[in-house]
Amino acid sequence: MKYVIVSGGVLSGIGKGVTASSLGVLLKSAGLRPTAIKIDPYLNTDAGTMSPFEHGEVFVLDDGGEVDLDLGNYERFLDVCLTRDNNLTTGKVYAKVLEAERRGDYLGKTVQVIPHITDAVQDWIEDVAHRSADESGEEPDVCVIELGGTVGDIESAPFVEALRQFQFRVGPENCCFVHVSLVPVIGVVGEQKTKPTQHTVKELRGLGITPDMLVCRSERPLEDDVREKLALFCHVSPEAVLSAHDVSNIYRVPLLLEEQGVSEMLSQKLGFAIPDSRTLLDDWKAMADRVDNLSGDVHIAMVGKYTGLSDSYLSVIKALQHSSFEVGRKLVIDWIEASDLEHIAEGKDESKSLEAWKLLSSADGILVPGGFGDRGIEGKILAAKYARESNTPYLGICLGLQTAVIEFCRNVLGWEGANSTEFDESTSHPVVVFMPEISKTHLGGTMRLGSRPTLFQVDECATRTLYSGVSHVDERHRHRYEVNPAFIEDIEAKGLKFVGKDDSGQRCEIFELVEHPFFVATQYHPEFKSRPGRPSPPFLGLLQAATKQ
Ligand code: GLN
Repeated sequence: MKYVIVSGGVLSGIGKGVTASSLGVLLKSAGLRPTAIKIDPYLNTDAGTMSPFEHGEVFVLDDGGEVDLDLGNYERFLDVCLTRDNNLTTGKVYAKVLEAERRGDYLGKTVQVIPHITDAVQDWIEDVAHRSADESGEEPDVCVIELGGTVGDIESAPFVEALRQFQFRVGPENCCFVHVSLVPVIGVVGEQKTKPTQHTVKELRGLGITPDMLVCRSERPLEDDVREKLALFCHVSPEAVLSAHDVSNIYRVPLLLEEQGVSEMLSQKLGFAIPDSRTLLDDWKAMADRVDNLSGDVHIAMVGKYTGLSDSYLSVIKALQHSSFEVGRKLVIDWIEASDLEHIAEGKDESKSLEAWKLLSSADGILVPGGFGDRGIEGKILAAKYARESNTPYLGICLGLQTAVIEFCRNVLGWEGANSTEFDESTSHPVVVFMPEISKTHLGGTMRLGSRPTLFQVDECATRTLYSGVSHVDERHRHRYEVNPAFIEDIEAKGLKFVGKDDSGQRCEIFELVEHPFFVATQYHPEFKSRPGRPSPPFLGLLQAATKQ
């Protein structure tokens, strides 16, 4: 097993995740079977209870793990399927060690960060790295490990120490350390500054880790003298100082690293051979070129809540992008704050509302993504009404299914007070209700989570066609509420058909509105399994309808 360990310095959010995924792509293209581990130094057991507004989206895995969004990057880039254990947090490690302590595993000993926490981290990594991460069921050959946060933070210190020890546990010939840093440009002349990188590498080396490669994020390609200077001060060879400057699209990042000899360096450090033909890299090149050559726009109105931070909808954006490549158009997302559509609300800024309606009514398609809490609910309901009545293509995801059902019940069935019990406990028509098996006392990890089957109920419908006619699909879930089975018959009688249900035949998974170009919603989150080159079918349907294809 080979390990590529990616750490970061200077700032968070400089693209460690994309760097790590791109290294994975290069390794995979050289014939190695990759897997990935993300280390998050926070105390939460998982990302499930964290606000997407603060931390970006919560990514959901097949096994129901609610994890950091970087695992989504790995799944998409490497086309793997990870588990909750591929996301290691401080909370998880401590929980494990404390449980062992209570059991008496350390009897007589003082339990300490070193060696007990650091050993637990290493055991965890070794164990997870050997687990299959794809359909082949075979053990991976290489594990990319990304250390979250920046080196030097108090909370990541035990992990840095564990990784320092780890190189001796598995042998230095099996470990490659890659440090991602920032090279800012200052002043009118636009000089590339090396000092922040010098400092972070000094910090890393002070903790006992010498990087094999430096990945320098910058706006422009690194100047040669800057590269030389970094090599000199950071104890790496000049070839191992890599320029990760801005490129036209994300698919160019692996190619950018490849051009600078990264595969060759990895193969020398880790001891594997690179085959002559690397079709995967050709595919990436084709994808990167295609993305650069899209013509014409397609506007999708995204009616959501956390529109200030686009990372809170990362997988939805990716799924839309994947589909836009397929229909050959440039994706433009028009962000609409759902509550801005509710002009009736008191004290509302009317110009905001007008602007929101203008965007909504000029969009080629409308998407209402998942969400929790009642802010903006009425706005989402209005968006569904508008899409239904104006024949605008609509895709609802999870909450976007529930709000569309509420809208339909209010305005087509005439049940004025129809609502979800999530927002109104005493509604006259509880058309969306709490699922009986879900805990009301604990919020962490207690939803209906992960991959569950959806069975098509009809031979022919738009969604089934989009999924190539299969009889069932396995998609990922994350919800507590569902369409009330007691109302299904009435709703279907008016033309909103539940064409996909779970294996009990009770739970609604997909609806389609008859006599509408594309009015579809899913209780599951199809965005999590979308891939570049293999877009998620419901998203592809939305984009095809939006571009009249
Ligand atoms: N709040 C809704 C529920 O819990 C929708 C959840 C979601 O969109 N992920 O069912």
